[in-house]
Amino acid sequence: MRLVLLGAPGAGKGTQATVISEKFKIPHISTGDIFRSNIKNGTELGKKAKEYIDEGLLVPDELTIDIVKDRLKQDDCKNGFILDGFPRTIPQAEYLDKALDSMEVNLDCALNIYVSDEEIIKRMSGRRLCSGCGKGYHTIYIPTRVSGICDSCGAAVIQREDDKEETVLSRLKTYHEQTEPLIDYYERKGKLVTVEGKKNVEDTKKAVLEALGAK
Ligand code: AMP
Repeated sequence: MRLVLLGAPGAGKGTQATVISEKFKIPHISTGDIFRSNIKNGTELGKKAKEYIDEGLLVPDELTIDIVKDRLKQDDCKNGFILDGFPRTIPQAEYLDKALDSMEVNLDCALNIYVSDEEIIKRMSGRRLCSGCGKGYHTIYIPTRVSGICDSCGAAVIQREDDKEETVLSRLKTYHEQTEPLIDYYERKGKLVTVEGKKNVEDTKKAVLEALGAK
């Protein structure tokens, strides 16, 4: 199974990608995670990417495409993969088409998780992350037992810089301008499947697996 996940930031792509990755035993490739780990390790790529990420902007295509190019060459991608957060622009999608052609494989599906802007803003501004183990929380939906402290490891729970409301609005604008056109792009190729991203993660999970089962 080779698929890409589309959807606004905060639609739940990461959560659903984990589910799909376990179910189909394929690697979950998140360009956002790759950038965050580079930022944490202070690499050159991380330093460059941070300037854009903190502003809610996309990292330039040439940097992003290079990391995906390297990742897809790895052995574990031979039988499939799920790309979470890539492509985010038409040139990235065109690159991916070329890369798949040269690997002589096809994309099975572009799975689009739809959530309204209003709901996205509510979800993202409440999102929190453990600074120690990386566990995810939400001030309303998944609160910590003790305010500000991770239930699992006891480290401080923080808000990602790019989850702050001002940045969320900028990320949504970027999404509508640069990433939403991919819905048409994959629709025209007959690859698009859209699922509604419900509040309840389990409901979305069911809908996603049903949609993929039909593929
Ligand atoms: P994510 O965790 O997928 O929401 O990604 C966090 C941030 O990383 C995004 O807001 C972008 O700034 C950057 N990013 C992730 N994937 C891409 C991509 N495919 N193209 C450009 N920028 C990206």
